[in-house]
Amino acid sequence: MFNDQQQNIAQRMNTRNDVSIEEWKDWKWQIRHQIKDVERVAQLLDITFPPDMLSRLKETTEKFPLSITPYYLSLIDTDEWQNDPVFLQSVPSPSELIIDKWDIEDPLDEDKDQPVSAVTHRYPDRVLLLVSNVCSMYCRHCTRKRKVGDHDYIPDRSTIEEGLDYIRKTPVVRDVLLSGGDPFMLPDDYLDWILTELDAIKHVEVVRIGTRTPVVLPYRITSDLVAMLKKHQPLWINTHFNHPREFTESSCESLRMLADAGFPLGNQTVLLAGVNDCPRIMRTLMHKLVMNRVRPYYLYQCDLSEGLSHFRTPVGKGIEIIESLIGHTSGFCVPTYVIDAPGGGGKIPVMPQYLISWSTNKVILRNYEGLITTYQEPDSYEAIVCDRKCGECALQLKLEGAREDNAVGIHKLLVDFDETIALVPENNERHDRRNT
Ligand SMILES: *Cc1c(COP(=O)(O)O)cnc(C)c1O
Repeated sequence: MFNDQQQNIAQRMNTRNDVSIEEWKDWKWQIRHQIKDVERVAQLLDITFPPDMLSRLKETTEKFPLSITPYYLSLIDTDEWQNDPVFLQSVPSPSELIIDKWDIEDPLDEDKDQPVSAVTHRYPDRVLLLVSNVCSMYCRHCTRKRKVGDHDYIPDRSTIEEGLDYIRKTPVVRDVLLSGGDPFMLPDDYLDWILTELDAIKHVEVVRIGTRTPVVLPYRITSDLVAMLKKHQPLWINTHFNHPREFTESSCESLRMLADAGFPLGNQTVLLAGVNDCPRIMRTLMHKLVMNRVRPYYLYQCDLSEGLSHFRTPVGKGIEIIESLIGHTSGFCVPTYVIDAPGGGGKIPVMPQYLISWSTNKVILRNYEGLITTYQEPDSYEAIVCDRKCGECALQLKLEGAREDNAVGIHKLLVDFDETIALVPENNERHDRRNT
């Protein structure tokens, strides 16, 4: 059965025949009827944009294209569309044309960390494999906004082959994230091929898929798709809910199908001004996620990509939200709040401070209530100097391919078996003087 808003939109679509609920729930029908311009948005929602706004919106879509599924459009509350979280995430704002002084086209340097064009290899043991640049709905807050709708970026089969080859000959890669675009925009058999190729690579221990289809096109989660995915365990699936209003009968059903099939489900939320920058909204969102067996994974600070300035909040808003969650609700409702570092530094967690002081045998902590307490550290702990002779160590995990030289970053400074005492930034004049 249609709900009222779906009914209204389906009627205004003026297709030759009345839209049936079966068609509406067919993901391919939804794709064929994606809304691609602002006039159509206004017509289907039966709203009127002021004329000067309309022309600016059109200008915006020339730079950053628009695409919305009829399903996602039907979630908009037309009585208050200006503030509607679904509207704000899917319909452009003229503010997208404002390029802030600090905006960067590719803030995460993803294009620079690409050994081949389908792969971003940033972290030691895992890679992004960009399998699709198509999405059913173009999020206005997309961090890869520069690529949205750009046909030059559609990865063809040979580009993906090249990415798979890179993974095959790079044994450190134990985790592959299919990303894009939305991997679930690919046909089942094509995705099946990619997953089969990855399964055949011995060193790939786990595969993840990042998709927003449960939010914007839940009908994509068909029993055929689930049956195909089930052949490729272990497979983790991450989705992208940003507001409690995105939970509907259909989205919950899609999550139920994925959870029943046994995939661990996670969620990545982007902190967005005017959409979800509120502790109460976030707590409700996290509760809805876990009720649907989805574990909140990351809360992202909005990136510095061009055209996103109107969505950004101060970092303090995110800290305040995390502060309102930790201790106040179940531990598994709390995502890790991260800033994806400009320049390709990767995700950096930022948290409220709980460790407020310490001495040689005591730490001072505060809890979520403001209680200040002490933790007495052990007198008897015998620090074992680790020389990496794992074969002789009493702790039971034998050497097996552990390498001696693989401590990286701050960890390198902490371990006993590495003699590095300082990490010195490049172009440090003081150090350069010493070397000459
Ligand atoms: C986010 C991301 C990953 C995965 O990071 P996790 O913290 O393991 O989820 C990998 N590669 C790139 C380039 C990323 O941006």
